[in-house]
This record gives sequence, C-alpha cells and structure tokens, in this order.
Amino acid sequence: MAQKFQNFINGKWVDAKSGRAFENRNPANWEEVVGTFPKSGKEDVDEAVKAARAAFEKWRLVPAPARSDIMRKLGDLMARRKEELAREMTREMGKVLAETRGDVQEGIDTAYYAAGEGRRLFGKTVPSELPNKFAMSMRVPIGVAGVITPWNFPMAIPTWKIFPAVLSGNTVVFKPAQDTPKTATTLVEIMMEAGIPEAVVNIVHGGGSEVGTAIVGHPDVDLVSFTGSTVVGKQISKDAAETLKRVSLELGGKNAQIVMDDADLDLALDGVLWGAFGTTGQRCTATSRLILHDKIYEKFMSMLVDRTKKLKLGDGLKAGTDVGPCVNESQRKTVESYVEVGKKEGATLVVGGAAAKGDGLSKGWFHEPTIFTDVTPAMRIAKEEIFGPILSVLRAKSLEDAIRTLNNTIYGLSSSVYTRDVNKAFTAMRDIQAGITYINASTIGAEAHLPFGGVKQTGNGHREGGWTVYDFFTEWKTVYVDYSGKLQRAQIDNY
Ligand code: NAD
Repeated sequence: MAQKFQNFINGKWVDAKSGRAFENRNPANWEEVVGTFPKSGKEDVDEAVKAARAAFEKWRLVPAPARSDIMRKLGDLMARRKEELAREMTREMGKVLAETRGDVQEGIDTAYYAAGEGRRLFGKTVPSELPNKFAMSMRVPIGVAGVITPWNFPMAIPTWKIFPAVLSGNTVVFKPAQDTPKTATTLVEIMMEAGIPEAVVNIVHGGGSEVGTAIVGHPDVDLVSFTGSTVVGKQISKDAAETLKRVSLELGGKNAQIVMDDADLDLALDGVLWGAFGTTGQRCTATSRLILHDKIYEKFMSMLVDRTKKLKLGDGLKAGTDVGPCVNESQRKTVESYVEVGKKEGATLVVGGAAAKGDGLSKGWFHEPTIFTDVTPAMRIAKEEIFGPILSVLRAKSLEDAIRTLNNTIYGLSSSVYTRDVNKAFTAMRDIQAGITYINASTIGAEAHLPFGGVKQTGNGHREGGWTVYDFFTEWKTVYVDYSGKLQRAQIDNY
C-alpha cells in the first residue's frame, strides 16, 4: 500500500476537501509508487490563503534577524538530512544522485544566504531638501505569496522562492509540481521543525488548472512567484492582471554553447556533455544547441559522438549512471516527437533517437542521448524548447555569426562560449542576449548567491537568487519625518 501524504494548511496535515488523490511514481521504474497526494481544488486554496492572510499579521511584525535564526536552523537541518533528501528526490524524479545532492545543497545555500540577509535588509537614509526634515526608505513585506514550481529542481526552486519570501515577512501558499510532491512535502516538514510558525507556510497539492489557477486568481494573494514553461507563464501573466498582482516569471530556455576555433576542445567537450545530457536535458539552462566554428567542426563532432555513445543510462540511484530517465511518459513522448520533427526537417540524426531499451531500462521513461547535425537556425529543433536529451548542432563561420545564431530564439536564459581569446570572450559577454553567460564553462551551473533569470520570453524581468530576489518579495516604503513644527512644502518653500 502506497504511503499517503496530505496538504499542510493552517498548521494541520489535511486531505483535499474533495477526498480525491493522485499517485506519484518513480520514473526509473513506473511500477514503484512513491506515494499518494491530495488532488486539491479551489476550496483548499481558499482555506490556505485565509490561514496565510491571518498569519501575515503576526509574522510581518517578527524582527527580520529573528526570522534569520529560523533560516539558519533550516539550513542546518537540511544539511544533516542531505543524503536522505537527495535519494528521495532521485526516486521521485529520476536525476542522478550527484545532481540531486547538488539540488539539496542549493537549498542549503539559499537558507544560509537568507539567514544573513535578515540582518541586511537595508533601506536608505537620504538628505531631505527641506530643513528639519528626515527622509528614509525601507523594505516592508507585501502579504501572501503564491509559489508555483516545476519538477526539475524540486528542492532548489521552492527554496529560492519560499525562503526569501518568508525571511522578508510574507506568508506563503505553495503549490509544487505533481511530479515532485514528496520532496516538497518533506521541505515543509523541515520548515516546521526549524520553527517557521504554523500557517506561515501552507502547501496545497494538485494540478495547475485547479490549484495553480486558484492561487493566481485569488484576490487575497498579493504576489505570485512562478517557475515553469513559457506557455503557462503567459497564461499566469494574463490571469494575474485581473487583480494586478506582482508576478515573477522564470520560464523556458533554448540555451546554446559556442565553441570557437581557438577553444580547449577537451574542456568544451566536457561542458557540452554535462550541459546537454545532465538532468537528461531537463534543465531550464540545459544546452540544447551547440554552435561549432567551421574550423573545428569535424574534429569536435567525432569527439562528441564518441563520448555520447559511452554515456550510461539507468536508475539515478545506481553508481555509474550518467543519465537518468525522462520525468514521465508525456515528457518522453515530447522528446520522441521532436526526433521525428528533426528528421522531417532534414537534420541528420547522428546518435540516439529512440526510447532506450536494455537491462534495467524497460520500466522507466528512458530516452537515448540524441544528437542532430546539419541543423539550420530556421528549424524547429533549433528554436523550440524540447526539455529532453536532444542536442542540435549548428555551424558558424565567425564569432559574430555564432552570436547571431545563438541570439536567434525567443528565449534568453543561459549561454556559453569556449575560447582562449580574451577579446572574443568580452565581445560575447557584451553581445549575447541572455540572463547568464559562461566563459569556458557549461550553460548549467548557477550559484545561489547570484542573480538568476533570463531575458526575452524567458521571463518578465525579475531575478531570483542572491540579493535581487529580495526586490521581488519586498515593497519599498518611503518615510518623511518633518520636525520643523510648521508646514514645509517640497519644491515650493525651498525655491
Ligand atoms: P509547467 O509550466 O508545465 O508547470 C509548472 C508549474 O505550473 C506546475 O506546478 C504546474 O502544475 C503549474 N501550472 C500549470 N498550469 C498552470 C496554470 N494555468 N496556472 C497556474 N499554475 C499552473 O512546467 P514544468 O513541466 O513543470 O517544468 C518545465 C518548464 O519549466 C520548462 O519550460 C523549463 O524551462 C521551465 N523552468 C524554468 C526555470 C527558470 O528558472 N527559468 C527553471 C526550471 C524550469
């Protein structure tokens, strides 16, 4: 019998009011049920928002350094349980253990960063233009934050949002992805153990069209922090406009790695293998396109094909596995459909191209690491986010040509250039249209204390991570104190 999990609303573990539930299965072995979770609806969201609203009135008054103390405990608890959390995550969504350990570590880093930030939520004191008048600005919490997350970073992404939200004095209604409800539930348990008061964080499990839309449309939710696909992000933007909520959108990508003719090819090879096939290509920052300079094209391709064929697919919990499964059946079908698209568009399939079979793979959503060459910028496989282990290879004659091809997408999240020429590196840093650019490193590898986000249709201009996320979760309040004892009119009495 599968273990049953619940929502956490107003400090209590409860079922969905409808009594409905959904199953979560291991993508490396679909016969293994990880657990059953409440299939919630609007009525559950209403309860959670009501509780979060009431809790906000107390929580906003707790001094930020006291909230910091809880964040520090949270980091300690997560660090102590890192291995267990990583194993649980691999079982739930498939990526290999080294990567799920990294995912948990990102949450730990985010907790400790938040702990420091509680003593550093600086405002500014500035001179007033009038005598005997004091002027300052300060950050204040906003209210109830709706947090809606995807499945590919089940621990890191929720912590990127919830920890700064809570540290800033907001309360939270959290809806995790249906593919990763277990990791999300454990995270909430740990938050309670660390001392976050009841109802400051609430979790409501269920589908996007039921729970997600109810959060976004709720008049008492003040802000929504969303990470997921561009298509859903656009819908959320429209839905949130009804109540003029503040919305942070972190969306899709079609990231590229450029390899110039002067690059260290071995280094570039490690970079692209990690970027394209790490997390089975299911990262928003995954390397989905490789742009090779003509002069090294043949040599690099032969190195790449050789190494790709050696990648070992399997259960991420087993030592020696390089690439895990796709997260579910629908994701693998998407990957398969793009293999057909690539073939029809006239690209050349050089490695992979099929659902993987073999020992230990028959009951999982495995797909072979796949590479297409002869890809042109106009092809769909060069433009659309696939979110799976498919790499499209394009050619370039020069750096300018390569950057033009890299920029030829509606997205702008991550990017990478391998070159030994400092002039080329700085030109690329300036001209690439992306929120993140790596020089001589893969497109994946963001660190928790730096701004994270993209340009163009990857988002709406906000940044997660580091100090920048605190701009989203706080409001600026400006305060003037006039101690002159008389009416002083700005811009009038002083000129
Ligand atoms: P998704 O958009 O399908 O779902 C994300 C979340 O939104 C889920 O919790 C889902 O239930 C919910 N949702 C779905 N429809 C909704 C609606 N109408 N209203 C409110 N909520 C709704 O994305 P996914 O498949 O879980 O994740 C993959 C996508 O996430 C990829 O496009 C990837 O690039 C993107 N992603 C982006 C970043 C980033 O920081 N830019 C990071 C990770 C993943």
